Amino acid sequence: MDIEQFRANAHQLVEWMASYLGEVRKYPVKPKVTPGKVKSQLEASAPELSQAFSQIMSDFEDIVMPNIVHWQHPGFMAYFPANSSPPSVLAEMLTATLANQCMMWETSPAAAELEEVMMEWLKDFLSLPQHWEGVIQDTASTATLCAIISARELVSNWQINSSGFSKQKLRVYASAETHSSIEKAVKIAGIGAENLVKISTDETFSMDMEQLFSAIKSDLVAGYLPTCVVATMGTTGVGACDPVQEIGELCRKYNIWLHVDAAFAGTALALSEYHWMSEGLELADSFVFNPHKWMFTNFDCTAYFVRDRQILLDTFSILPEYLKTDLEAEVNNYRDWGIPLGRRFRALKLWFVLRMMGKSGVREKLRNHISWAGQFAQFIQQHPDLEIMAPRLFNLVCFRAKPKTSDIDLNDFNKQLLAKINDSGMFYLTHTKIKNQFIIRAVFGQTYLEQKDVSRLCHLIREILQK
Ligand code: PLP
Repeated sequence: MDIEQFRANAHQLVEWMASYLGEVRKYPVKPKVTPGKVKSQLEASAPELSQAFSQIMSDFEDIVMPNIVHWQHPGFMAYFPANSSPPSVLAEMLTATLANQCMMWETSPAAAELEEVMMEWLKDFLSLPQHWEGVIQDTASTATLCAIISARELVSNWQINSSGFSKQKLRVYASAETHSSIEKAVKIAGIGAENLVKISTDETFSMDMEQLFSAIKSDLVAGYLPTCVVATMGTTGVGACDPVQEIGELCRKYNIWLHVDAAFAGTALALSEYHWMSEGLELADSFVFNPHKWMFTNFDCTAYFVRDRQILLDTFSILPEYLKTDLEAEVNNYRDWGIPLGRRFRALKLWFVLRMMGKSGVREKLRNHISWAGQFAQFIQQHPDLEIMAPRLFNLVCFRAKPKTSDIDLNDFNKQLLAKINDSGMFYLTHTKIKNQFIIRAVFGQTYLEQKDVSRLCHLIREILQK
């Protein structure tokens, strides 16, 4: 493809993209596709000769489009969203075109400095502690791994980095509601899944402080090294928050690293009515939130903040001759702030989103989402056969049906209700289980969500239950 062909194809593609986003509602959110269907339509090996863009686009329409989940559909209420926005898409087009590899200042000066400033903008927007410094990571899972490895190195005085594990018995603590990425990080960091202590939660699904305190005390007696506590702001299952202030005080007392996982709900810190969440945040050693979940920035874009950047650098920095420059002391070389050497130019999309939406535009969307979640929760509360299953702090509503008929299995009934909602093609919701009870989760966080979608969801559920 020469540059003139590229220009023509790119124009065509932009038309396609704008039409898609304008008409995304016409697609079923979740395709009815069985495993292997897509594979069976693809060639077994790459073509020997060049194929035309039009032919590839035609296959894209026929093979990909009918078999893909439409994450940008307003009816996408599953998991947590990976929401995008037009400014973010525009920036991603530039990122792909420049195709920079932003491992250090020297390889992309503008990218490095834009990243530094974007982290300052986010710190200001979310009212995070002023002394923190931030870096963009690919995912919250990676950021949490960085936090746990940093904590491991601090507690072992960098012995594990240099000589590997000897006799250290490290412990990490998190609530029973914590995200699976914490266990994964504990495994990868060599600490061992058995040394992740899951602390039970109270009736609001928030970490039980007495349990945490007694786990730390008994571990100390047994010769373990309490290394890190992970507090969650907005758990994946039900959106609960752990008591950061109390956990932070305990961590300070026992010299334990505090990592705050605010992957989804962290964006709410941009709203004055959620400033209660920041109580005690200054006690944290690290904090992660995902603009790629609820801040309208294409996946992947994770903001990772640390109290002491030197610990991060001492943990991850390795400087071979071929990467040395004369500017080491003057600039941020983000290759040392995380795991991969190579890094995408992710700051650009944050710059576009924050400038084109403005802080007020982002806040307005967040407030709409939270308010519509409230309206949906009210519908659940008022319906005689539905009940709320967890307190609602943000835009996630956890509910289930509880019909008056006594001879039904409620878990089966709710599983079927969820399948019927999703089979409508209008919405995609997912579930979790609490105390072995099947619970339906509805997340109101999609960029293109409108109030009418919430009314449609209420209407659909009412109709299904009437049948
Ligand atoms: N932490 C929480 C609370 C989450 O809900 C999630 C994902 O939903 C993650 C971490 C992992 O996020 P990522 O996909 O960016 O690794």
